[in-house]
Amino acid sequence: VLSNYVKTSLKESDMSLRTSKIQLKIPSGCDGTVLVKNLYLSIDPFILALMKNQELELPSFTLDSPIYGFGVSKVLDSSHPNFKTGELVWGFTGWEEYSLIKDPDQLFKVQDKDLPLSYYIGILGMPGMTAYVGFFKYCSPKKGETVYVSAASGAVGQLVGQFAKIAGCYVVGSAGSKEKWGFALMKVDLLKNKFGFDEAFNYKEEQDYNAALKRYFPDGIDIYFDNVGGKMLEAVLNNMRLNGRVALCGMISQYNSLEQPEGIHNLINALVKRVRMEGFFTSDHYHLYPKFLEMVVPLIKEEKITYVEDIAEGIESAPGALFGLYSGRNVGKLLVVVARE
Ligand code: NDP
Repeated sequence: VLSNYVKTSLKESDMSLRTSKIQLKIPSGCDGTVLVKNLYLSIDPFILALMKNQELELPSFTLDSPIYGFGVSKVLDSSHPNFKTGELVWGFTGWEEYSLIKDPDQLFKVQDKDLPLSYYIGILGMPGMTAYVGFFKYCSPKKGETVYVSAASGAVGQLVGQFAKIAGCYVVGSAGSKEKWGFALMKVDLLKNKFGFDEAFNYKEEQDYNAALKRYFPDGIDIYFDNVGGKMLEAVLNNMRLNGRVALCGMISQYNSLEQPEGIHNLINALVKRVRMEGFFTSDHYHLYPKFLEMVVPLIKEEKITYVEDIAEGIESAPGALFGLYSGRNVGKLLVVVARE
């Protein structure tokens, strides 16, 4: 549950664990609801905005009530005509072992049970749709173009890079590095060796983002898929090519900061280069979900696309996992397994 609204930066103690007894059937007077057992919970950057009580077109969290987010769940009991006991679904649910879903019309049914269920909060869920819509609709890629992706090893970024390679582009990604099991696991190695990016760099080792981008894009950037905002966005705008496109997907460098976000000081390069810069919300595009599945499921099954997950065990690990997301502790899509069946 949310213990207090976050004022500046997130602390694990902003959340606490509660235990209560519930009946594993739908209470009387709750027609049209479904009771689910939550299997996987998604740890997503937008959660912090709701913990800060910020407007995000989603209801903010209520103090002392469960945090909610995307999850994969199994229907235990249903008083809704479209859902049956035993069905697997994904969509908004509580950070709980069991949840009563009051608006099941927003749930999606798990389509293909041959693939890992956790994929429905990753590559086959909201992050996958974000990469698909953001890249193909907002970046309008053409073969041979140059693409830059920030936060490139994460839930969304790893897919954008792979989609860009499939589209015949030259792709560079940036990411941090991470200590795991006592040695440094370089996310940039993952970008090149696992996801097939042409080049990758560790932005934490670069003093001058402008110089780094000039090194990898001597002739400029056609497409920037922005996951981080801040001063990286400013450096990118200095390096765009004529008629370039910038998809404003997220600005994670600004979400958990104590300081005022660093602004864009000069947009003249965007003007001179006729750059199209556009923000988007994946939630406006779920009508494309069937088309997205049609494209991505065969790519997964034919092993033309891969997906790395970072799985934390047990609901009690959720606060720590969320905290780690804003310092880049995760490698790949971060999620929590609550139960495996
Ligand atoms: P990730 O799995 O990429 O996890 C977040 C990553 O961001 C971390 O692993 C870390 O990697 C990086 N990061 C954290 N802090 C900073 C910082 N200060 N500067 C630069 N990088 C940082 O998350 P997602 O793939 O789920 O989300 C990526 C972006 O997409 C987010 O901005 C999110 O808000 C946005 N988003 C937007 C949606 C939309 O509808 N527009 C929908 C879904 C996501 P590293 O080690 O590289 O620093």
